[in-house]
Amino acid sequence: MTENHAPADAVILGLRGLMGDAHVLDRADEMSPYLTDWRKRFTGSALCVVRPGSTAEVSSVVQFVAQHGLAIVPQGGNTGLVGGSVPLGRGDEIILSLARMNTIREVDPRSDVMVVEAGVTLAAVQQAAETADRLFPLSLASEGTATIGGVIGTNAGGTAVLAYGNMRDLVLGLEVVLADGRIWNGLGKLRKDNAGYDLRNMFIGSEGTLGIVTAAVVKLFPAPKSRATCVCGLASPDDALAFLQIAKAAAGTSLTTFELIPRLGLDLVLKHIPNTRDPIFEEHAWYVLLEFSSQSTDGADALAQAVMMEAVDKAYVEDGVFAVSLEQRDDFWRLRESLPEAQTREGYSVKHDISVPLDCLADLIAAVSAEAQTMIEGIRPLPFGHLGDGNLHFNFQSPEGTDGSDLKAHAGALHAMVYRYVLAMKGSISAEHGIGQVKRAQLAATKDPVGLDMMRKLKAALDPDGRLNPGKVI
Ligand SMILES: Cc1cc2nc3c(=O)[nH]c(=O)nc-3n(C[C@H](O)[C@H](O)[C@H](O)COP(=O)(O)OP(=O)(O)OC[C@H]3O[C@@H](n4cnc5c(N)ncnc54)[C@H](O)[C@@H]3O)c2cc1C
Repeated sequence: MTENHAPADAVILGLRGLMGDAHVLDRADEMSPYLTDWRKRFTGSALCVVRPGSTAEVSSVVQFVAQHGLAIVPQGGNTGLVGGSVPLGRGDEIILSLARMNTIREVDPRSDVMVVEAGVTLAAVQQAAETADRLFPLSLASEGTATIGGVIGTNAGGTAVLAYGNMRDLVLGLEVVLADGRIWNGLGKLRKDNAGYDLRNMFIGSEGTLGIVTAAVVKLFPAPKSRATCVCGLASPDDALAFLQIAKAAAGTSLTTFELIPRLGLDLVLKHIPNTRDPIFEEHAWYVLLEFSSQSTDGADALAQAVMMEAVDKAYVEDGVFAVSLEQRDDFWRLRESLPEAQTREGYSVKHDISVPLDCLADLIAAVSAEAQTMIEGIRPLPFGHLGDGNLHFNFQSPEGTDGSDLKAHAGALHAMVYRYVLAMKGSISAEHGIGQVKRAQLAATKDPVGLDMMRKLKAALDPDGRLNPGKVI
């Protein structure tokens, strides 16, 4: 607890006075889904959960919090992977869920934009874009639950960053409630606006520590007329990187996905996830799931065929298969998207979300895997993910048949080892999941001191009393 604040009963009564009884939850059974993160690694406690239905209500809750010496944890779908959306349990926190702010305020195909409230799920935004014959490209396995406020809060990445960028690249304007309750209306639709500092970008990726996003203007794109999805078998990450260069040179931004999967990952998916099967007859050490999109009806297939032929000719790809139906496309995607679940079902694992320059990626995989094997006998390295972005989920599975206690005991040493290589290669300790509570100490230990100082000053300027998501990021 940071300071004396009003007693819990008075807080709940006051908030109910602002928003009505139904939208202030304080019973343990009502609050429990909001208190634990998706991976079930962090559980906190809160005075209550408030569910405002409008920007004005968010503003009045924030003002109430400021007047009563409390703190706020903004929450969207609670699918974040770094513990950022759950309270620490300091005694003064309330959770502010944006789930009821789920209106799509405007779809404007002529300007290729959509204005959405923070609690709209990513899947609903994709669906509304499709209905308007447009594409909203951000795509994550959690898209049915993750919200626009959450993907802005974390600057989420996902599987289409290669062509469209991450969330930062997809936002034109924001509406934000500041720590003192004022509402910043930055909901511009402009693609060019150099009139002063770019305030929008301060909030994107700030994990609820600088302001509460209540609405956003997001970019829409022409809906692709064709897609081609392939799975290829390869001998090594080096070959995958050479293959990536061929695909990028031939397809440019029509190459929308390039995901790396090691054989161990595929084995775990086939073992644990129902209705999955080996995509290629023979086994390969590595696989790439890649997808092309085109604005012509047969353009994607033609591109995929040409790229694949060149890569096989040059012996970067050993074998490959094309999805011949939507059902098969879904099957291929399920192999990639089920990797986290398959890992969980297999047992204990240690995870990292890192990025390095592309030319270092193969060396990183080799060096980190080799050193891990000297640390724990039988450890199973499982690096997979967004190879096209230089972003790997560099995970380790416990040795087969063990309860994971050895891996658990070495988790800290493994983190230190992985981050040592990543930083030596001028990479990032958090490519897309953010800092939250998980990597706060690592950020402080590894960030450039001048950069860290600027971050602290920004936080002090926008949230001088530390009321917004305390104990997260910085
Ligand atoms: C199966 C699975 C797959 C995933 N795949 C990916 C992936 O490929 N790429 C990727 O980048 N992430 C991925 N994630 C992580 C997660 O889905 C994203 O971080 C997502 O952006 C979180 O959205 P959310 O609405 O659930 O946010 P929450 O988890 O509720 O919150 C995340 C953070 O944003 C803050 N926040 C939430 N709403 C607001 C708001 N309105 N204003 C200000 N701050 C806010 C919270 O305080 C918290 O710090 C995955 C997660 C799961 C479970």
